[in-house]
Amino acid sequence: RKPCRAVIAMAGSGKNGTKDSITKLVSDLNSAKLETDVDVVVAPPFVYLDQVNATLTDRIEVSAQNSWIGKGGAFTGEISVEQLKDIGCKWVILGHSERRHVIGEDDQFIGKKAAYALNEGLGVIACIGELLEEREAGKTFDVCFQQLKSFADVVPSWDNIVIAYEPVWAIGTGKVATPQQAQEVHVAVRDWLKKNVSEEVASKTRIIYGGSVNGSNCVELAKQEDIDGFLVGGASLKGPEFATIVNSVI
Ligand code: PGA
Repeated sequence: RKPCRAVIAMAGSGKNGTKDSITKLVSDLNSAKLETDVDVVVAPPFVYLDQVNATLTDRIEVSAQNSWIGKGGAFTGEISVEQLKDIGCKWVILGHSERRHVIGEDDQFIGKKAAYALNEGLGVIACIGELLEEREAGKTFDVCFQQLKSFADVVPSWDNIVIAYEPVWAIGTGKVATPQQAQEVHVAVRDWLKKNVSEEVASKTRIIYGGSVNGSNCVELAKQEDIDGFLVGGASLKGPEFATIVNSVI
């Protein structure tokens, strides 16, 4: 793996944040003691990206929660990769479960966005994960591998991709996956990369876990061999708890 073993991204859903609450969060992050070996990325809603990027320490990079599939143009309401880069954004989260299951984005559409963003030099946090009924039907691996394949089929290189495994039933529910449940999928994802991409990509790609991670459950999760960090939603809105999570992953 890369010497910088883990990446943490904080999602913070579209409904979270006001100028005031974000000013407070940024100030907490700026004064937090964060382990140097952990890459930390925050992903505020679009309208606050510029504010966050302008006020946040350089130690932490900024990510968007979505981007458009191709060049900017007449796509009213969408935000282009070029615009994200223009305001200093380094990353984009793609394929988040809410984009897939609430907004209805499919694998092909998400793959196109990933390819475009990577070609333009943004890092991609590529989200995969099964619904509860898919897990109960024994389809967890099939679903995750299919979603992975849709990235693998189109991405120009794996240098700038972090995979986020987020079981949909664990996101925002308080029902975190057990360390064993998470590790089982992470190791399967790594094996899939080994077989279908290359041994090198499998060993160096960071695979982070998301879904109800908090300051108490992060330590056991982080001990798992193939869990390289976290994608944190709710707990990222609490400055000190977020720092605890960051520091648990080394
Ligand atoms: P959560 O959210 O940590 O609140 O479950 C994760 C996410 O939004 O991806």
